[in-house]
Amino acid sequence: MSSTEIQTKIKPPWLKVKLASDKNFFYVFNLLKKKNLNTICQSAKCPNISECWSQKTATFLILGDRCTRDCAFCAVKKGLPSPPSLNEASRVAEAVSAMGLRYAVVTSVTRDDLPDGGASIFAATIKAIKKKDSGIKVEVLIPDFKGSEDALKTVILALPDVLNHNLEVPESIYPLINRSKENYCCSLKVLEKAKEMGAVTKSGLMIGLGETKKEILQTFADLRGVSCDLLTIGQYLQPTKNNAHVKKYYYPLEFEQLEKIALDFGFKEVESGPLVRSSYRAHKMYNSLFKKQYNW
Ligand code: SF4
Repeated sequence: MSSTEIQTKIKPPWLKVKLASDKNFFYVFNLLKKKNLNTICQSAKCPNISECWSQKTATFLILGDRCTRDCAFCAVKKGLPSPPSLNEASRVAEAVSAMGLRYAVVTSVTRDDLPDGGASIFAATIKAIKKKDSGIKVEVLIPDFKGSEDALKTVILALPDVLNHNLEVPESIYPLINRSKENYCCSLKVLEKAKEMGAVTKSGLMIGLGETKKEILQTFADLRGVSCDLLTIGQYLQPTKNNAHVKKYYYPLEFEQLEKIALDFGFKEVESGPLVRSSYRAHKMYNSLFKKQYNW
């Protein structure tokens, strides 16, 4: 991999995205507003929002729009959230149905204030979506539930098709994003336990916060050490001036190299690119895995 660091004050051309405002985009916007639903697309200021919404996909953010943690990379609002809404699961299911999604991705803010971390609401949401149409696949991108196996089990018993939990960054970067190294181990344990409980597991990494190549590869090894199946790798972008600074913009070719290396580590599917996020084209990754598994 090239060690050349690109001037980080100027965004390189491959990170510039076109803003779309087609009818699908506004359909999604209006639907979410009508159903009073949040998305991580908006809350995290995702650069892919134009592309995804124009294709009528979005990632639902349940359990409110305020997070009880304060990670330095994340643009989601912090603070004490409101109590969970009792009919949020059915509103998500209605939106999934209205958008015609065959693959739904659901995530949440971290709710350390709730006894189960919001696991029961995840489970209710998976069930509500599948009740509308059992053929719809559901990927959940969960918080660590403070390592609670009971909470994890609650989610897994609702039978999500993919259990995603992001490591986010290599272990050495955890202190720089307001997380302790124990959080890194806790996240690995979540993935390990999820695998033991029979889930297809997925994780995601952001790079560009000052990690070395060796640390990236160690993270691949750690994830494979807990048999993680799927991996996404994307460029960290500073979402607001209050978030951690970008230390390096990686070239697209470097992402391609990392994808090949990660596949050599044994991940079943890897999506790696400057604008890749954990839910980006998630349906494609799942379909590709499914085709391989069933030799289609
Ligand atoms: S990549 Fe994920 S979070 Fe970003 S816009 Fe697409 S669906 Fe939303």
